[in-house]
Amino acid sequence: MTTTSLACGDAGCSIDGAAVTDASGRVDHARIERAVREILAAVGEDPDREGLLETPARVARMYAEMFSGLRDDPRQHLGKAFTEKYDELVLVRDIAFNSICEHHLLPFMGHAHIGYIPNGRVLGLSKLARVVEVVSHRPQVQERMTEQIADLLECDLGAKGVAVVLEASHTCMTIRGVRKPGSLCVTSAMKGLFRNNVSSRAEVMSLIYGKR
Ligand SMILES: [Zn+2]
Repeated sequence: MTTTSLACGDAGCSIDGAAVTDASGRVDHARIERAVREILAAVGEDPDREGLLETPARVARMYAEMFSGLRDDPRQHLGKAFTEKYDELVLVRDIAFNSICEHHLLPFMGHAHIGYIPNGRVLGLSKLARVVEVVSHRPQVQERMTEQIADLLECDLGAKGVAVVLEASHTCMTIRGVRKPGSLCVTSAMKGLFRNNVSSRAEVMSLIYGKR
């Protein structure tokens, strides 16, 4: 597997571009199917039992979908920004996402809240959701995902300020290990104006957490 780094060159920009899984850029379903059969055998199941016969193929299709962001570059959505004089806060909150924790390959799901102050270029609102989708459909950790979204808006959109808050429930904490259902992991990344200006940061946080 090769990973192409498409970092924008700015110090601290953290996003990688599309990673390709084979020469064709497609997920190797047959390889996943072999691996799933191995896991089933290793836990003491019979992979040839009727109920499990189609499972490896289903799991392969599922991973192809859950990791589709590896073959996608979130910057393609930022390229569709348009020129607009508006230079006040744009905030989209409660963007639902689901991702896969790279430590356990278990899902974590929640909501992203994204605010930015444009610098002459405004993004179509659905494009913010597209960026979240691409970045979340990769093996992830929530902290990195938060930084990556903020970096994309700062580096590639050139926003004057970016605030990203992610809230998510991690099944690796709720159904296994310490088993704490109801726990929520909150991460935030503040860039530009929101990092330097306390009142701007307070404003965006109150809008994110204000009356719903
Ligand atoms: Zn985990």
